[in-house]
Amino acid sequence: MHVVFKQYNQQQAFLLPPSLDELVKVDHPVRVVNEVMDKVDIDPLLKKFKGGGTSSYHPKMLLKVLVYAYITNTYSSRKIEEALQSNIHFMWLSGMSQPDHNTINRFRSDRLKDSLRYIFTQVVVLLAEQGVLSLREAYVDGTKIEANANRYTFVWGNAIKTSKEKMKQQLDELWKYAQQVAKEEMDDKDPGGFDKIDPQQVEQTIATINEALKDKDVPAKVKQKLNYAKKNWPSKLAQYEQQERIIGEDRSSYSKTDPDATFMRMKEDHMKNGQLKPGYNLQLSTNQQYITHYSLHQSSTDTGTLQKHLEHYLQQYNQHLQTVIADAGYGSEENYQYLEEKGLTSYVKYNYFDREQQGAKPKGVLSTDQLYYNQQQDCYYCPMGQRMDRIRDRKRTTRTGFVQTLARYQARNCSNCPMRGACHKAEGNKIMEVNQNMQRLRENSRHNLLSEAGIHYRKQRCVDVEPVFANIKHNHFFKRFMLRGLDKVQIETGLLAIAHNLRKKAA
Ligand code: SF4
Repeated sequence: MHVVFKQYNQQQAFLLPPSLDELVKVDHPVRVVNEVMDKVDIDPLLKKFKGGGTSSYHPKMLLKVLVYAYITNTYSSRKIEEALQSNIHFMWLSGMSQPDHNTINRFRSDRLKDSLRYIFTQVVVLLAEQGVLSLREAYVDGTKIEANANRYTFVWGNAIKTSKEKMKQQLDELWKYAQQVAKEEMDDKDPGGFDKIDPQQVEQTIATINEALKDKDVPAKVKQKLNYAKKNWPSKLAQYEQQERIIGEDRSSYSKTDPDATFMRMKEDHMKNGQLKPGYNLQLSTNQQYITHYSLHQSSTDTGTLQKHLEHYLQQYNQHLQTVIADAGYGSEENYQYLEEKGLTSYVKYNYFDREQQGAKPKGVLSTDQLYYNQQQDCYYCPMGQRMDRIRDRKRTTRTGFVQTLARYQARNCSNCPMRGACHKAEGNKIMEVNQNMQRLRENSRHNLLSEAGIHYRKQRCVDVEPVFANIKHNHFFKRFMLRGLDKVQIETGLLAIAHNLRKKAA
């Protein structure tokens, strides 16, 4: 049969040159990026440009290009540069401007620093005005994303503490040795202990010991140790102090290649060896699978992040938020208390809510949930009918600084009780502690979670916030940040969030 080929002529001349606009489909996502970004106020971003010197690429164009790059999984500045020269959608968006990767990187890392959050907020408010999402309900969850840092350059807070303790102990031993050998010379030189040491004090102490032992017959081993200490300990101590400052209060480690990153256990453990990796804890609020708020944290647990996350949400959207839905990772007394004080309706599970719903009984003979409580007399009755009186309260401060009150109740007489072996092992009458505030908050939470609205929100949580993480990480392959440092990682997260929202809007 005769084969007919379509005409192929690369030298075909155009009577009128084609416009790029004709080549971009009317419903292509790049048009959504263009349309939404044109509505966004970029005044704070414009103020970043000082003027003078050579002309600059327009920030709106660079912003559109970056957002579209994140929509199309193009995270590397070199790949974006390449796309601007070869991809018709990038070329249309940039109006044929072709900034190089350095310009793109500088814009992403520095210029967007203080204005991207404002731009993100405008995009979310715009979407809320169009009715595709609500700012009244927030589904909150977190995930860990690996930092752009070497996995083997860790600094651990505990290792520093151990090294400092060892140094203190050795210094103390040297001091005591000098006191024995050169009693007279050391008589009036009391350092007052080595509980708190600093580089100057260590230097001074070693100099004093050396001076006292100068004319004494000292074993070579001690001399060697003193020489080593003189040469290394003050600088080592200064280094430890600096490292402790970087670690701060809320975390236990950092990476030398990105000091803002903390070593955390990641869900994606390809090696399956439980190895900790440097990363950031990303917290998201979503609604209808749109990201309405993001925050990055350096601590690996979700519990301590909720207040900071919501505080910023409330500021950002001027108190629109009414309802918070989160999983059991956030069900602490501190969080429940905060949600109550802010007047937010919450649907947040406590850690054994699911087990409780499956009918599992709390362990132990004396679970406070199972004991009879007489509110008027403020006393409990144990299974043997013994009255337990409130004897005193105890305060306990959590790692985050929250003060809990634990009420202590003591049974009147446990002697000869047949249940004693199973009930308690301590001598005397049984004493138990009850966190009554947590009991009250947990009861309120249980009531909310089991209500009709609670059942709806619990079902919706699994299909609202969780798919957003899956989409970003697995469908769009964002498993590791490109930039280093908290400020820059914030920018990347903002771009990811805008890209996610516009991709969803365009779908
Ligand atoms: S040991 Fe004391 S508190 Fe425990 S069941 Fe017996 S009487 Fe009650």
